[in-house]
Amino acid sequence: MEAEVERVGEFKATRNYVKPGTTGRPNLRLQPLSVFTTSKPTRLLTKIHGKWYDLTEFERLHPGGPVTLGLARGRDATIMFESHHPFTDRKILDAILMKYEISSSNSRNLETLEQRYGVAEHSFQWPSAFGEALKFDVKQYFESEAKRRNISLREATKATPARWIEISILGALYLSTFPGFFTGDWRFLLLFPLMAWLIGVNTFHDATHFALSANWRWNALVPYAYPFFSSPFAWYHQHNIGHHSYPNLSDRDPDVLHYYWMKREHREVKWFPRHRNQSTWWYMLLWWGVAVEVGMAIMEDAWMLQSNLYNEVVPMMAISGLRRIAHILGRVLTIGVIHAWPFFTMTWGKAFAFSLIPYLFFSIVFMMNTQINHLLPHIIHVSDVDWYKHQVITAQDFGVGSKFCHLFSGGLNYQVVHHLFPTVNHCHLPKLQPIVARLCEKYDVPYVTARGYIHAIQLHHLHTSNMSTKWERRQIQSDFDRQVRTVLGIFGR
Ligand SMILES: [Zn+2]
Repeated sequence: MEAEVERVGEFKATRNYVKPGTTGRPNLRLQPLSVFTTSKPTRLLTKIHGKWYDLTEFERLHPGGPVTLGLARGRDATIMFESHHPFTDRKILDAILMKYEISSSNSRNLETLEQRYGVAEHSFQWPSAFGEALKFDVKQYFESEAKRRNISLREATKATPARWIEISILGALYLSTFPGFFTGDWRFLLLFPLMAWLIGVNTFHDATHFALSANWRWNALVPYAYPFFSSPFAWYHQHNIGHHSYPNLSDRDPDVLHYYWMKREHREVKWFPRHRNQSTWWYMLLWWGVAVEVGMAIMEDAWMLQSNLYNEVVPMMAISGLRRIAHILGRVLTIGVIHAWPFFTMTWGKAFAFSLIPYLFFSIVFMMNTQINHLLPHIIHVSDVDWYKHQVITAQDFGVGSKFCHLFSGGLNYQVVHHLFPTVNHCHLPKLQPIVARLCEKYDVPYVTARGYIHAIQLHHLHTSNMSTKWERRQIQSDFDRQVRTVLGIFGR
């Protein structure tokens, strides 16, 4: 056991750790031979609430499938463990963990990937009275749903038959744009990426949260159907392991560190004169246009493979050299095909249009739906030691009750509930929102919501303007806070 256990921190130790966001250029800790290094550990070890577990034997038994457990491999998975089992009987969880616990004498030499890379550690307080109340009330809702529909509680939390019908319609509409788009019909230049967004956001996000289906194979496969987002592999690091566990914490949330030397999202990120540009709308739009295809799909993926860290704060899971090469080839092929095909069938001018415009448009739509949930002046710099409270106060809803906002954002408009219960399919979120809002009021936890898209985008722009200045930021911060709180009318209750 000892020898196998030793292999968990398989990467070379990294010294001279530099705080993320302070260097003005990507902090790559290059490991030139890493592409050829077979680094996959033989056993699935993870740390939860300070204890180590060997879940290798449990991998094939876990209802969520191997992808979920893979996210925990080698790291401190306490938050993911808690947030992914909100309705599971605690006694069952404890019994399973006890079975696979590694004795303290065998685990004393182990270090997590976070420790190996010197990534900041945040300890939240568990359990939480607020969290227990939330889980109790939401579980009651799903228990009655399960009884009514004569299915298991777990199935009740995933996509309903009505949701699958909606997904099928969106899928059919997306496919129906293929002939027009691929034959170069101008009418489909924006219609194609629009339908790609609609089907994508309504399935990809849920699937990567294991919230689409109770059958883990659907959740594992569906994310590979959309070549326009980031790779599922990078997304799990950015979104599940990083962002959802530590929203808005500048030393753990990769979403406040995207290209920080060009766009500043947090006051703990070093200011550079070029950040002045981000107070303008044209800079924001330009940024939104390139963020997905250039940023997420190519550069940040490549940097992760180079440094074994996503945006400097999320240690990459251990993978074999073969998987690394397969991943790189997959990315090159995907990006290549997406952008190169028009040049084989169209004139050069038209080919450029069909090669670039749909993805600029897709990126803008992606950003207008994802930047308005956390990167906001009134919630960017807050935190709480209670993980559940932290999730509520660092997220913002918009367009609550609007069917359009729900469909067009794939449920991202119920961001607060989504962060509390990420494994719940977004079709249930409108029903859960009043339950959560009532408990927030009872426990005095600020729950913020914007009116709709325009309001939320304006608030995000206030935030980027705020972060564009160096010396006046604290003053401006408090002014903006006051404005926003009055607008939202929620802090003043
Ligand atoms: Zn999410």
